[in-house]
Amino acid sequence: MYIILLGAPGAGKGTQAAILAQKLKLAHIATGDLFRQAVEQGTELGIKAKSYMETGRLVPDEITIQMVLERLSAPDCAAGVILDGFPRNLEQAKALDKALAERALAIDRVVYIKVAQEVLLERLSGRWICSNCQTPYHATDSPPQVEGRCDRCGGRLQQRDDDKPETVKKRLKVYFAETAPLIDYYRQAGKLVEIDGRGSINEVSQRIISALATGKFAAR
Ligand code: AMP
Repeated sequence: MYIILLGAPGAGKGTQAAILAQKLKLAHIATGDLFRQAVEQGTELGIKAKSYMETGRLVPDEITIQMVLERLSAPDCAAGVILDGFPRNLEQAKALDKALAERALAIDRVVYIKVAQEVLLERLSGRWICSNCQTPYHATDSPPQVEGRCDRCGGRLQQRDDDKPETVKKRLKVYFAETAPLIDYYRQAGKLVEIDGRGSINEVSQRIISALATGKFAAR
């Protein structure tokens, strides 16, 4: 089972992908998390990705696609995955389709989480993330129990460098220019499930789960 979560930065993809992965017992592949880990560890991949991330631009396709295809070959992906933050443009979407087709697989559903732009800005500016396990928090919408500490692992919470106002603007611009066309791409393929991303984390996840349950997942 291969599910993509699509939406602008701040739409709630990471939070919802983690919930869905746990619920459906699928691997969660978040390209932003993979890049951030690589940057933190100072690997060759991290060194290549760093300057793009800092300026809110997409990491070049050949680097990103290779990273995702390698990750998809890991044993924990055998039952399927939730893709979060990938694909981000048509080139990546086509490379993914091709790689899955070579394994006689295909994307099953694309969950598009729709959120108005002013809400995105508000969410991104209050966002905190665990430096250890990447769990996201929000200063007002979903604060941690202990200020500055992750509820799950006790890790230190930090604001992402690319959540600074200037970089946020650039990331949104890149999203509308390069990623938003994927909405039509997957709609035409008959795979798009559109979800209202307003409201609490729980409300949105309920919407996603019931929308998926009315499709082919109902039989699982
Ligand atoms: P995210 O955590 O998904 O917002 O990603 C953070 C940053 O990582 C993005 O602004 C990009 O610089 C990079 N990145 C994440 N996913 C991709 C992707 N699919 N293609 C290219 N760059 C990506």
